[in-house]
Amino acid sequence: MIRLSRGILLAATCALAPAPAWAAAPFKPDVFIAATGGTIAGAQANVEQHGYTAGELGVASLIAAVPQLTDIANVTGEQVMNIPSQDMDDAAWLTLAKRLETLERSDAVTGIVVTHGTDTMEETSFFVALTVDTPKPIVFTGAMRPATAIGADGPANLYDAVAVAGSTLTRACGTVVVFNDQIHSARYVYKTDTTRPDAFTSVDRGPVGAVDTGHPVVFDGCAGSAFRQPMVPIAGISALPKVDILYAYAGMGRDLIDHAVLAGAKGIVMAGVGDGNVTEAALAGLRDASAKGVVVVRSTRVVAGFTMRNAEVDDDKDRFVASAELKPSKARILLKLALLKPSSLAEIQADFDTW
Ligand code: ASP
Repeated sequence: MIRLSRGILLAATCALAPAPAWAAAPFKPDVFIAATGGTIAGAQANVEQHGYTAGELGVASLIAAVPQLTDIANVTGEQVMNIPSQDMDDAAWLTLAKRLETLERSDAVTGIVVTHGTDTMEETSFFVALTVDTPKPIVFTGAMRPATAIGADGPANLYDAVAVAGSTLTRACGTVVVFNDQIHSARYVYKTDTTRPDAFTSVDRGPVGAVDTGHPVVFDGCAGSAFRQPMVPIAGISALPKVDILYAYAGMGRDLIDHAVLAGAKGIVMAGVGDGNVTEAALAGLRDASAKGVVVVRSTRVVAGFTMRNAEVDDDKDRFVASAELKPSKARILLKLALLKPSSLAEIQADFDTW
């Protein structure tokens, strides 16, 4: 009762008295949107159409579609590239990471949103987390439905991402993915649904926070989710080593492994069955690859769980690395970066156990 009558009194007072000339405008963070394409910028020919083309609309259209963004931030943006994220590659990752590093150093930027296709968001966000120093939040977002769809999810995701990027709450989180009302660490998140708007899951740990219509909540201060400094500073790097992922299955032979070695792979990530296992034939191929200096990382095709050293495979004897928490898509990124510096297998294993 008291609260209500006070509220009414305050509202009435405000309505009567014009704001004094010296009253400061409410603080708004400066959020920069680095757009890269994806379904959030996708368009259909008509709304009942299942098919669409990703990466059609520019950053100005994305911003214009959510006029409420200007209530919570001063928003500017740039089209860094405009592609479906299945076309992301080493060159695109390096271009984006270098641009983000420059933005991180700009006094005109409080936080950064990267709009991105969902197919490889788990990879690009992890690459950025490992290479860009993030005193300011970097927030990836996207959409499962194209911008023209009935019930497009892009505008809500973009609004939440801008709120998270502008919030001091998420400073300790490093690079995150904001999607479907959740905040995920780039370290833990994977795409786990092909079409639904709740497409992202931090499979082994759960999200690091939530967002409710632009109001972020961070669990446990994002403890442990961000890196203190980049694993590999990106300045001066112009190419990344070739690393392939091979998917294991019952009855797998060694031919794909031999082919990867012949084609010049410097590393192979094995998406093994179960706890990173493969057939005897594939194991022989991996041993030979390792003997030739190709770094073999055992990971798993299973959606959740760790792949630890020396379970059913003798990693010590066979000179393999175990991917620990990382599933194949992220293990490939980490191995590419680990191979940039001269490292022993023990050091690469330590990278997997640390990052
Ligand atoms: N294929 C699209 C992409 O990753 C899917 C999406 O954005 O949801 O660019």
